[in-house]
Amino acid sequence: MLKSKQQTLDQAVLDELIRAVGKEYVHTNVEQLVCYSYDATATRQRAMPDVVVKASTTEEVAAVVKVADKNNIPISPCGARSGLSGGSIPLYGGIALDTTRMDRILEINAPDMIATVEPGVVTKRFQDEAARHKLFYPPDPGSAEFSTLGGNIAECSGGMAGIKYGVTRDYVLSLEVVLPDGRVINTGKKTWRTVAGYDLTRLFVGSEGTLGVFTKITVKLIPLPAKVETVLAYFSSAGNAVDAADGIILDQGVIPKTLEFVDSICIDSVRGYGGIDIPKEAKAMLLVDVDGDPQIVKRERLRVEEACKKNNAFQIVIAEDVEKRNALWQVRRVISPALFKVAGKKLNEDVCVPRSKIKEVTEEAYSLAREYSIDTACFGHIGDGNVHINFLYGEGDEQQAKVDKMLDRVMEKVIALGGTITGEHGIGTAKAKHLPWEIPRDELELMKSLKKLIDPKNIMNPGKIFVS
Ligand SMILES: Cc1cc2nc3c(=O)[nH]c(=O)nc-3n(C[C@H](O)[C@H](O)[C@H](O)COP(=O)(O)OP(=O)(O)OC[C@H]3O[C@@H](n4cnc5c(N)ncnc54)[C@H](O)[C@@H]3O)c2cc1C
Repeated sequence: MLKSKQQTLDQAVLDELIRAVGKEYVHTNVEQLVCYSYDATATRQRAMPDVVVKASTTEEVAAVVKVADKNNIPISPCGARSGLSGGSIPLYGGIALDTTRMDRILEINAPDMIATVEPGVVTKRFQDEAARHKLFYPPDPGSAEFSTLGGNIAECSGGMAGIKYGVTRDYVLSLEVVLPDGRVINTGKKTWRTVAGYDLTRLFVGSEGTLGVFTKITVKLIPLPAKVETVLAYFSSAGNAVDAADGIILDQGVIPKTLEFVDSICIDSVRGYGGIDIPKEAKAMLLVDVDGDPQIVKRERLRVEEACKKNNAFQIVIAEDVEKRNALWQVRRVISPALFKVAGKKLNEDVCVPRSKIKEVTEEAYSLAREYSIDTACFGHIGDGNVHINFLYGEGDEQQAKVDKMLDRVMEKVIALGGTITGEHGIGTAKAKHLPWEIPRDELELMKSLKKLIDPKNIMNPGKIFVS
């Protein structure tokens, strides 16, 4: 049996933790505990750990996990706590195990086109370091400037470049994992291929901290594209923008590096930000990067412009130099927090549908917004069908009840369209209720059996993914 929620740990246990990582990295003061009681999930779910432990090596993580195992204490790994599904929240108290001190880039091996890092490395720092070797790590969540690779791997984060380059899982070759009983294993190989045995790496990627703690991560890298250009196209309707996205891929045959959709509420929330002059009539926009060899980039950029014009883009901005590109992208990256300007509360969903159903899912969101009188904003990586539907609402039970109903209706629709309830944020606690709506019973039972096999005491991030 797990120790009950929120109970003070014995001094003897705290002493063991102190022996494992050192006194200055074991915190029981309320100021520290509060900071680990929530993540970026807008429902603001909270649960306090009993203790925060900051480990700096595999050996320290293993020692901490062994203490948890011996004493049946829940343990929730965490990185930057920027998750959007409640994944790092220590629902049953116990140990919040922070891996951000493990922030070394251990190796960037250009000839083998791989890198090995510790889990606390911030994504953008790693991308920049790889670029210095003329190498490219494509997974690029909107949180790249602060989220950690450990968190990215645990959530199988997606992000902007998914349409052309895939998501985090497509780059992870090997993981060092501390299992819930403290054993250390290495999955996969530091090679671009292996088919030796079951693919444990894929099992751990996206496991949301429920199967073990990652302590080393080996990823593959690809050559850094020589050139990137950005096209920003403004439209007077969301429908035109979605049609233009189709036109880019299906008519013009271009798979761009990014294909981001932004609707009118999102545009209004970032108007004036970063000196970008957004036209008043803009009701939707597409932000598109094309990358590769300069001649290919030029050709593809013209095709992207062509598709946008054909679908009634009324203004197109081109950014060729890094500074201008960054300015446009910064506007896109701040949309998620900027939406808090519209209403005090925000529920950000990350559904993913077959590409042909994007219009249907966004129209459902806007129709629910009218029915329930709750502002609803859509943006996201529509190139690969991943739409962020944001319900923007106020305080009070009535508002919350409306949003709960809207969420259920969206999830029903997405599943009916053949889509998935989460394309990149994970299930965590936020979508645990909806998981059985999507995953048939036999598959769900198999998943739970795997969890039980690897974590028989259910100490590793309990309460996540599965309702029971
Ligand atoms: C503004 C904003 C934009 C975002 N944009 C995107 C986006 O475009 N795409 C996207 O996919 N997500 C996005 N996110 C969500 C979030 O940033 C990602 O899920 C990210 O991967 C979380 O990383 P983190 O370091 O903050 O992890 P945390 O939130 O700390 O943890 C996330 C999960 O990882 C587990 N975990 C953390 N470290 C380890 C470890 N060492 N071993 C095992 N498990 C571990 C935790 O237990 C938890 O389940 C965004 C968030 C914000 C706030």
